[in-house]
Amino acid sequence: MSETASDRSTIDALREDFRARIAAASTDAAVKTLADEFLSRKSGSVTGLMKTLGTLPPDARREFGALVNALKQEIETSVDERRQALAAARPPADAVDVTLPPRTRAVGHVHPLMLVRQQVEDIFTHMGYEILEGPEVEDDFHNFEALNMPPDHPARDMQDTLYLGSPIVGGTWGAHRGSVPDAQVRAATLLRTHTSAMQIRYMKTFPPPVRIIVPGRVYRRDNLDLTHTPMFQQFEGLVVGEGVTMANLKGTFKAMLTALFGDVKIRLRPSFFPYTEPSAEVDMSCHKCAGAGCAICKQTGWLEILGSGMVHPAVFEAVGYDPDAVTGFAFGIGIERLAMLKYGVEDIRLFYENDVRFLEQFS
Ligand SMILES: [Zn+2]
Repeated sequence: MSETASDRSTIDALREDFRARIAAASTDAAVKTLADEFLSRKSGSVTGLMKTLGTLPPDARREFGALVNALKQEIETSVDERRQALAAARPPADAVDVTLPPRTRAVGHVHPLMLVRQQVEDIFTHMGYEILEGPEVEDDFHNFEALNMPPDHPARDMQDTLYLGSPIVGGTWGAHRGSVPDAQVRAATLLRTHTSAMQIRYMKTFPPPVRIIVPGRVYRRDNLDLTHTPMFQQFEGLVVGEGVTMANLKGTFKAMLTALFGDVKIRLRPSFFPYTEPSAEVDMSCHKCAGAGCAICKQTGWLEILGSGMVHPAVFEAVGYDPDAVTGFAFGIGIERLAMLKYGVEDIRLFYENDVRFLEQFS
């Protein structure tokens, strides 16, 4: 009987050991290792006890065999239950792991040309200008004729024009944001070569005084190279009123360019445009070298910025303004030109290739 008592305590020890460890088994692999340790055919500790049964006398064999069987069944049941519990606690295959860090969303940037456009619009808005847009498809009257360029005028050759294959007839094509309706309906035949066409639309619709900025795309028959694109963007500016002078023009550019580039000097050079008289190219002292001479300003210390002038009396007559009562100045600035100078971009094509490696630098 002492033999049976010792074997009984062996069974109790195994049971306790198993119960403690099955509760701690937290993976399928750990459960399998534990089950093998007790039940495997070759080396399981419970299996080992089974193998000793044959050496016992019949009575003891029956009693001890029942105990070993009970332990074996308990272990098998516990292993099954533990496996089911682990399976139930496991997340489904399509489960979302809420502890994972979130994916960062790719955020777009404002295009460098739009950055410059917004800055310039801000500057002029603070000076009391109204921002307008106009139609990109224009008629000959607004793009040329009313701007003192009648048919066969040689100045038309200054801008290589893109004409439509078939003209658009009707008045709805000018319905852009802030555009001015045109009472006189003409067939649109061309892509505007400059934003100056909008000067005419505005003055034909509203009496003086005028203080407007017109940003927008313009088109010329240019080949793509370092400094030219067939489509580019301009700001048109127009100020009309009593006693407006070239001093106002100069002061306006000084304020605008200082706001954009810092403390710069400006100078005016005589030039020619059919719709202004006198006309002037406006240069700015180089913002990189402060006028000392560098690669950007080609060692001159000056940078060409824009074309401008006092509105030609013929333009006022074309829109019904009295050239003896009002004067005004107008100007056109290339947005790409400003952006290239401001950001040190040497190839205008970069603005239109949409290479994110370029665009990301303006975030
Ligand atoms: Zn320079």
